[in-house]
Amino acid sequence: ESIISIRNLVKTYTLGGETVTALHRVSLEIEHGEFLAIIGPSGSGKSTLMNMIGCLDKAESGEYMLEQQNVGKMNDNQLAAIRNQKIGFIFQNFNLLSKLTALENVELPLIYQGVGTNERRKRAQECLQKVGLEERAAHLPTQLSGGQQQRVAIARALVCNPAILLADEPTGALDSKTSSEIMNVMKGLNELGHTIVLITHDLDVAKQAKRIVQIRDGKLFEYGGDS
Ligand code: ADP
Ligand code: ADP
Repeated sequence: ESIISIRNLVKTYTLGGETVTALHRVSLEIEHGEFLAIIGPSGSGKSTLMNMIGCLDKAESGEYMLEQQNVGKMNDNQLAAIRNQKIGFIFQNFNLLSKLTALENVELPLIYQGVGTNERRKRAQECLQKVGLEERAAHLPTQLSGGQQQRVAIARALVCNPAILLADEPTGALDSKTSSEIMNVMKGLNELGHTIVLITHDLDVAKQAKRIVQIRDGKLFEYGGDS
């Protein structure tokens, strides 16, 4: 059963009278439990596609169904709601709040959802455990390595039980050893049943996923080797 079903999405930008087609009839099915990497060079349309999948922006035409809901027909409030419910975002630069501990950072999305203190703490601790960071719960981001900060960000992305984890260059700010550590965390989460969509320009990173699609000039292709 598909979590995500994207058909013929088209997205253009107009800037100073020039029109750029960032997505050119892109179609993509993502199943429950998949670990998919979307790879492409700079300017190929990765950010645009990630904005679509993440319900941050809408296409001009085509269809996007997320767990049987028609994202293309939603207004901005509905888009914000489905985004918070269904998508766990992971970014290159972690985006942690520097004055909050690891545990508090992970709890934050649950505060916005109105979850009570005890329940919040319990769920945040479980997520820190899933990424192997329960011992660092009381540390501030500045007291953590880059890899540990990214683990906190992954735990935060998990805490609302999203339908998918959407990771935009999650290893972009990390050295290669730490990158493979983070990719191992992702693989572990996928083995636990989490659906993961990873966006990257780095083939070595993409190869850690179970399936790769590539985007070039706004068009999506199945990945066909090193060519
Ligand atoms: P990538 O993430 O792979 O670097 P993007 O999705 O950011 O690619 O960009 C795809 C194309 O769309 C590029 O040609 C880019 O310049 C253009 N583009 C992206 N965002 C905008 C925007 N807000 N306004 C105008 N053009 C844009
Ligand atoms: P990334 O390296 O993460 O893919 P990009 O350089 O593609 O980042 O884009 C960063 C941001 O700038 C995105 O939000 C994108 O929409 C916007 N952007 C990209 N290209 C253009 C452009 N030609 N004009 C205006 N905004 C752009």
